[in-house]
Amino acid sequence: MPKLTARMRAYHIALIADSLCVCGCGRQATLVHHPLQEHPDQGTRRNHEYVVAMHWTCHNAVHAHGSDQYAEAAADHRARAISEGKLGD
Ligand SMILES: [Zn+2]
Ligand SMILES: [Zn+2]
Repeated sequence: MPKLTARMRAYHIALIADSLCVCGCGRQATLVHHPLQEHPDQGTRRNHEYVVAMHWTCHNAVHAHGSDQYAEAAADHRARAISEGKLGD
């Protein structure tokens, strides 16, 4: 599994704090989710730079259902974080 660096961890914490659940339910996010479908650029599903923020109940539902459509959202969040200097080298 790819390493979760301190920088990625800080990104996750900031994303949770700044986000409502990606599903659109309107609740404050409580955790990050690694989308079940990989973005073409991401290499491995557990790439910690590709995440979306969710409320934990919606997160449980996604995993129970076994599919989601959040790969593009995760890539968009990552691109924004890189442009803001929060991810990348
Ligand atoms: Zn939700
Ligand atoms: Zn998840």
